[in-house]
Amino acid sequence: MIGSATDHMLTVTWSNSTGWGAPAIVPYAPLALDPAATVLHYANECFEGMKAYRSKRTGKIRVFRPDLNAKRLNMSADRIALPSFDNDEFVALLCAFAAVEERWLAWSGNATILDTDENDFLYLRPMMIGTTPRLGLSKPNDAMLLIIACKLPSWHSRPLRLLASSPEEYVRAWPGGFGFAKVGANYGPTLKAQSNASALGYDQVLWLFDADKRLVTEAGGANFFVVWRNEDGRVELVTAPLEPGTVLDGVTRRSVMELVRERMPEISVSERQFSVDDIVTAVDSGRIIEAFACGTAFFIAPVGEIGISGRDVKIPLKVDGKSGEYARTARRWLEEIMYGEIEHAWGVPVN
Ligand code: PLP
Repeated sequence: MIGSATDHMLTVTWSNSTGWGAPAIVPYAPLALDPAATVLHYANECFEGMKAYRSKRTGKIRVFRPDLNAKRLNMSADRIALPSFDNDEFVALLCAFAAVEERWLAWSGNATILDTDENDFLYLRPMMIGTTPRLGLSKPNDAMLLIIACKLPSWHSRPLRLLASSPEEYVRAWPGGFGFAKVGANYGPTLKAQSNASALGYDQVLWLFDADKRLVTEAGGANFFVVWRNEDGRVELVTAPLEPGTVLDGVTRRSVMELVRERMPEISVSERQFSVDDIVTAVDSGRIIEAFACGTAFFIAPVGEIGISGRDVKIPLKVDGKSGEYARTARRWLEEIMYGEIEHAWGVPVN
């Protein structure tokens, strides 16, 4: 695991006949699974990823928009025939678990500081798996919901270098598929392309869809935004649309769009299809402003370069050569909420 696993995990089991059982927070330990468990054969696993932060103002632990993770977990579970879990109950369990593990996060008012920094966070990983021991292909009758956590340092990366995928060779998601769901089956098959990109010095794959149109979808485990000046001179923040089901409805993606719409009405915020060729044209004609990837793992990560058809296309990083202005602003807005510097409905205290 990246970072240090905390010492507990939360488990709840489900069966078709009795429904969800009583949740338990127990010491972190390996699972005992029947080797015929459906998850090991048919990949019925979905997960979530979110962070818990210690408020710099009150010292309380907060999670960011957990209701959206609850809904997305249920949406993903439904796509792979796993049971649904009550949204409010999920948020309550998540908060209870984060509260148990809170001593892993520093606070100068806390006697149990564990060699840490005030910007660190706990990464929470809820997941659901099908556990029925059966080699036949049918909906599982048994499932388990788990939550584990690990402590990670705050993410201060250099600007990302992305490599646009070759849609003739690899496609991450397609209409009618399951790219919109956070299921493990979306990730394992991307690891070879990711490792090829890493070997060439890139950080993430920028996944394209449709060999002719070369449409941009997502950047590895993150959504992708471009800011450019349109031909009519208006600044546009653009990202790939949720339809036709080829990108994840990222909590960070949504939050960035909502805040920009609310606080920068002069900017057009668009969810629409665009291609890597549109990016190259915008760079060559000087209309490009910046690009960034965003998600729980990378937070708001400025993009400095994109490898497109053998050319490393440079994307401006106008603030200190490290970020664009919009990425910097969005990051600051979100940090204020996540670390509880301001009171906001999206920052939910866990106790
Ligand atoms: N896209 C993919 C494929 C992801 O795995 C993630 C991470 O969860 C995201 C986008 C960003 O989503 P979020 O902002 O909810 O972390």
